[in-house]
Amino acid sequence: MDMIKQRDAAVHDYIMKFGKWLHNSDAEPLALHKWAQVHDRFLNRWGIMTSNGFEVLNSVFRIARQLPVCAIVDKTFYKCVDWFVNRQEAAIGWEATRLDFSLNITLVLHRRNEKARKHDIRPMYYGHNNYEVIDKDGLLKTGVRGEVRYDVTFPPEGMPICVCRRPQLTGISCNHVLAVCFLRRLNPNDYVSPYYSLQNYINTWSGRFNGFGNKWDWSLYNGPIIRPNSDKVNKGRRKHK
Ligand SMILES: [Zn+2]
Repeated sequence: MDMIKQRDAAVHDYIMKFGKWLHNSDAEPLALHKWAQVHDRFLNRWGIMTSNGFEVLNSVFRIARQLPVCAIVDKTFYKCVDWFVNRQEAAIGWEATRLDFSLNITLVLHRRNEKARKHDIRPMYYGHNNYEVIDKDGLLKTGVRGEVRYDVTFPPEGMPICVCRRPQLTGISCNHVLAVCFLRRLNPNDYVSPYYSLQNYINTWSGRFNGFGNKWDWSLYNGPIIRPNSDKVNKGRRKHK
């Protein structure tokens, strides 16, 4: 934080207020964990799982947003139905082939396993919970490839800790942790967050939709009819301020 302050006082000021209920309250504790994942000591925010769902939908419905309201509702509804049906179907297929995680996570682990096999591992502590993992083909800060050393710790409980911070930030073991798993003959699947389990994936997409049928089958609507105030409806594109 001191380095940030020296570099840019305005940025430091912004961070000190970030995520607080009352921005200028000194009594309120700092909310750095809301500002950056690295400050999330309780591992509540993992990688893509913390993406704002509405922002994701914005990119998906970029075209639909230009349509009339009824068409947007129609497209949104059937797009969601397609997602749930297709992903549920894919998940059942993965379950049949006995995958422990979704295909994406399985592929990530496979790629990291391949890298892990090329690492050298040296136990650094008699208690067998701290290791130095040497990647001979690591990416140096200068952008070239060379030998890079990683410190990996297996605490008595919870996810392993690696200086590359991938396990802490994403809940998925990095190649350095996997390398230690090989050495210790540990099951690497034990070090992937259960959030990524195939069963959780299936549960996520197990929702069921009912079609809205034909218009003439709908019950009569007796509620209020809401119309926009014509004085406040301006012609042309919406102005952003
Ligand atoms: Zn690592």
